[in-house]
Amino acid sequence: MKIEVLGCSGGMGQGEFTTCLRINDQLLIDAGSGLGNLTQQQMLAIKSVFITHAHLDHICFLPMLLDNLFEQLSMPIEVFALPEVLQALKTHVFNWHIWPDFTQLPSSESAVLNFNPIQQGESKTLHDLQIAPIKAQHVVPACGYSVIDGQGRVFCFSGDTLFDEKVSYAYNQIGPIQVLMLECAFPNRLEEIARKSHHLTPKSLSIFIASLNLLPEELWITHLKPSLHDEIVDELQQLNLPLKLVFLKSGQTFFL
Ligand SMILES: [Zn+2]
Ligand SMILES: [Zn+2]
Repeated sequence: MKIEVLGCSGGMGQGEFTTCLRINDQLLIDAGSGLGNLTQQQMLAIKSVFITHAHLDHICFLPMLLDNLFEQLSMPIEVFALPEVLQALKTHVFNWHIWPDFTQLPSSESAVLNFNPIQQGESKTLHDLQIAPIKAQHVVPACGYSVIDGQGRVFCFSGDTLFDEKVSYAYNQIGPIQVLMLECAFPNRLEEIARKSHHLTPKSLSIFIASLNLLPEELWITHLKPSLHDEIVDELQQLNLPLKLVFLKSGQTFFL
């Protein structure tokens, strides 16, 4: 499985782009500003987009993607998300006020955007990958995703979440995970804000890791706020977690 980190920042700035992962060229997880790093040709190869939740940093370039490709698409872009997330996109983004409703363009029979609800406990097999939502606890309806390739390699991404027993239980049902990608938006001193906004800190992330029955081979860290980046990295390194820590940067490509 090829995973490209198009964006992994909790903010913006030169070289910083928000969450967007491209897997095996055809599939995206989230459509943050990192999506804008692709060429037109690379965008045309995208067939499916899985959205973790409707917060702007995870969806902001989805409307632009459809606009960019509109004249060239012969098949719709398939967007997968929890039903509540799709409803939020319909109501608040693709509503003709903020952006055209591409599920009706050029016509409802041959639209370039197709919404596909996906529920917890369900999985989709697309492009030789099996993708399933994972429990997340955020301030809006949200999920993470597990992605399993033909060789049985397992990649999991938390999306935005806090840690609790239900989240931990969900990850312990998956079995061995090669790579776990967790957000860590705030340093420990901002624990209160992290709790209110339902994000992880190094401290809650370490409790999350300790709750896992099996440790992943690698832990990828994402969604650090640019202004807090070094502080969060220091705190995570001081934890001496018993696995390989990778601090993601936009533009990285990994082969699992
Ligand atoms: Zn969020
Ligand atoms: Zn976010």
